[in-house]
Amino acid sequence: MKLTIQNKTEYLNEYYFQTLCLLYFPGEKFQEGYESPAEASFLLEHRGNGFYCEARLSLGDRSETGSFDTNGYVPMVEMTDSDFAALALGKAYLQAGEALMGFPLPWGYLLGLRPVKRAKYYLDRGYSGEVVEKLFTEDYGVLPTKARLAVTTALTENQMLKDVGEFDCGLYLSIPFCPTKCDYCSFISCATPRLFSLIPSYLERLKRDFVNTCNVIRELGLRLRSVYIGGGTPSILTEEQLTDLLGCMNGHLPKEHLLEFSFEAGRPDTITEGKLHILKEHGVDRISVNPQTTNDEVLRGIGRKHSVADFFEVAKKALSLGFDTVNADLIAGLPGDTKESFEKSLSDVMALGFENITVHTLSVKKSASLRFREGEVYDPAGVLARECVEYACNTLSDAGWLPYYLYRQKNIVGNAENVGYAKPGTENLYNVLMMEEYSTVFACGAGAITKLVSPARDEICRIAFPKYPYEYLDTDSGIRESEIREFFSHYPRKV
Ligand code: SF4
Repeated sequence: MKLTIQNKTEYLNEYYFQTLCLLYFPGEKFQEGYESPAEASFLLEHRGNGFYCEARLSLGDRSETGSFDTNGYVPMVEMTDSDFAALALGKAYLQAGEALMGFPLPWGYLLGLRPVKRAKYYLDRGYSGEVVEKLFTEDYGVLPTKARLAVTTALTENQMLKDVGEFDCGLYLSIPFCPTKCDYCSFISCATPRLFSLIPSYLERLKRDFVNTCNVIRELGLRLRSVYIGGGTPSILTEEQLTDLLGCMNGHLPKEHLLEFSFEAGRPDTITEGKLHILKEHGVDRISVNPQTTNDEVLRGIGRKHSVADFFEVAKKALSLGFDTVNADLIAGLPGDTKESFEKSLSDVMALGFENITVHTLSVKKSASLRFREGEVYDPAGVLARECVEYACNTLSDAGWLPYYLYRQKNIVGNAENVGYAKPGTENLYNVLMMEEYSTVFACGAGAITKLVSPARDEICRIAFPKYPYEYLDTDSGIRESEIREFFSHYPRKV
């Protein structure tokens, strides 16, 4: 799309303007020669003691304008000049955007994937939940229901993190293989039988990196609180492979402070009773069994190879084995789904007696799928997705479930969000550590990213493994222990 910025300020760069534009025009590109019916033009200038912004947005032959002046505005929280510039720009953009597109953005002009982090930032500085909600709705243009959701989630997280410090850590193991590729998936996961031949050597390398990580955790005197095996679909491993991996883990994990051990079983078509027994025997206490929907037609449409009956059968077995926590993922906004069908999926899963339900919003793999063209499979305004996540939030909250982590994705339909809900006391710490970047999470495997976090120094250092399993196997740089040691050498003491 064509983007014109008059009177650029030192406070907001061009990338900020582009990111803002994507809120109403997801999937757009800004390079020259890219044809699009969408256009945006901004005038942003210092005026008096504040900032004034005029925004003009166009789609084809329709245009709308919005404006905002921060002079006379009394801030609810401490604000910098950049915050005032962003306020003028954001408000003007929302005004023009809503007039042009006919719907408000659920998260207003809040950019970034972690709105709860912002709510937590203000709560941690002593502002009340009411003030933060008001700040979200009045300043950022967030819808009241989303502001409440963000604050409730932040309060739940604060409760969960009250005993977690900078010497606590989590550990993630990546199994990036899936039996087949789901149509909507943007995750890098190997789903062709040819690549499954890599699994044995992949597991050998993974175990080595895992053992080295455990040694470093011990040596640095860190407290391992949470372990998570994710994917892909970790339950694609055979019973022998699973026994071998979990046996190795049990032999090396520093378990003294461990609170939880999670396994992303994921697709029902990969889960057997034998695998569930192996998980249970090796101390896994939280598993995910993910139906995404309990509508067979929708499942077929998105390329999942299991049926709803398969899901119910696995769910029954998982519950009978007595895992502490069983989670189910649902997706709002799937092609072919309807509001009624989503409501039924939620009620089916709630009726099972799971402890956690994670409600994702469809995020499309190619941003182009979200562009404003006639006849797209995906609904660009995301009306269905937004209605479904709203319904899930109300229904689960009314039934006493707590939202405990929340994030957005780049190409998420309808600008909505993904939310993990839990029955009180069953929240998963790993998800919160990852999302809020609150303390270090080590990661091993292809595509995995270790995040070394120091809240005291306000510092995050990322160490990424190669994305694809064959690259991971080809590039043996280990877990880069020297970088980890260097990061922790600044800590004043060991626990
Ligand atoms: S199971 Fe999950 S990771 Fe694997 S292809 Fe489907 S959505 Fe992607």
